[in-house]
Amino acid sequence: MPENYDAIILGAGAAGLMCAARAGQQGKRVLVLEKAEKPGKKILISGGGRCNFTNIGAGPANYLSSNPHFAKSALARYTPRDFLELVESYGIGWHEKTLGQLFCDGSSKQIVEMLLEECAKGDVELRCNADVTAIELEEGRFAVMTSGQIVTAPSLVIATGGPSIPKMGATGFAYDLARQFGLKVVEPRPALVPLTLGGEEVLFREISGVSAPVVANAGKASFPEAALFTHRGLSGPSILQISSYWKPGEAIAIDFLPDAGGDWLLGAKRDNPRATMRSVLRDAMPDRLADILAEKLGVETELGNASDKALRRAQEQLKRWSFRPSGTEGFAKAEVTVGGIATTELSSKTMEAKKTPGLYAIGEAVDVTGWLGGYNFQWAWASGVAAGEAL
Ligand SMILES: Cc1cc2nc3c(=O)[nH]c(=O)nc-3n(C[C@H](O)[C@H](O)[C@H](O)COP(=O)(O)OP(=O)(O)OC[C@H]3O[C@@H](n4cnc5c(N)ncnc54)[C@H](O)[C@@H]3O)c2cc1C
Repeated sequence: MPENYDAIILGAGAAGLMCAARAGQQGKRVLVLEKAEKPGKKILISGGGRCNFTNIGAGPANYLSSNPHFAKSALARYTPRDFLELVESYGIGWHEKTLGQLFCDGSSKQIVEMLLEECAKGDVELRCNADVTAIELEEGRFAVMTSGQIVTAPSLVIATGGPSIPKMGATGFAYDLARQFGLKVVEPRPALVPLTLGGEEVLFREISGVSAPVVANAGKASFPEAALFTHRGLSGPSILQISSYWKPGEAIAIDFLPDAGGDWLLGAKRDNPRATMRSVLRDAMPDRLADILAEKLGVETELGNASDKALRRAQEQLKRWSFRPSGTEGFAKAEVTVGGIATTELSSKTMEAKKTPGLYAIGEAVDVTGWLGGYNFQWAWASGVAAGEAL
């Protein structure tokens, strides 16, 4: 005999647990099916084990989506302050790092335990190691085949995340399911991911491990933070951020001297004509980076012997150094996925599919992707609450 629920949620990650807790506490009979052996695995590894659980400044401008307005409603109704209140109500210590990023003082485990406690308050049933083999919609009820059993409910929530970090079991399951019910999917690509360098730019791999504060630019997007040279190319926060905006074949521009203004190199020539390009760059950035940039700029003489025109050209190049990445390190290293279930298919208030009433999609499965810095969890919480209240 099938077991009947008011709602079945697929995935016990950030969004699924939040949604389940909210619906359960509103009196719904909720079942969560989780493929892995335990819930919240990405939460556990997040933020270097301390979970960057929100960003105090999170707003719609911090998200990428084919429809930049879609996330507004859910984000406005469940804010970073709301999540912080929940965290504080459990006595979980937290601190703010740079740029509004909030982390646990202790461990990410506290966030998973808090979410499970919230689920328990709503009598949510959670089944791990649940292999979903088939889903059918019959007479207004979703029938889910799992581990030899059938469970049914009039509402089904897709909260199975995106394909980033397949090593942890992440797949494109959400997209297959969405397509099964006729929903469009915006092509998923890896985001918040290191970029790889090829061609002449492999030279920069020699300085693997060197990091410097830069401004990374791609199109209209611009992120001032550190960049890190790696044995495969470029990483570090500014690069991870810009990777979400980068499209294959495009160039990214790096400002290696964000604080230098005007004709600073001409000023250096005037003040110290015996200085070399290498020595002035060494004053402003790590030595190994300075050496490689000086070599590439090709100003070999002392600054006093270089023409103003050559120095101006070098200044401009250092302000907008163009890299043409050969690719990214892919879903294996991507923190999140850009793209996903098309927002045009969903209600921005409830996350319910317009074409298939009773079907919902939340979290990373949806075509809403946050910046690095706690924004992705905030979307998971907010979209989870939006659906949880509507179930
Ligand atoms: C290394 C790393 C660090 C990160 N750090 C941060 C951070 O500090 N701050 C931040 O905001 N974001 C961070 N993120 C991003 C964040 O983890 C995700 O955006 C967030 O977890 C998405 O929540 P979700 O619930 O949509 O998906 P997930 O948390 O991925 O949950 C999906 C769940 O569904 C389950 N599942 C998958 N397929 C099935 C299936 N077929 N049947 C049943 N269950 C299934 C999965 O096992 C998983 O438990 C990080 C990501 C990574 C990879």
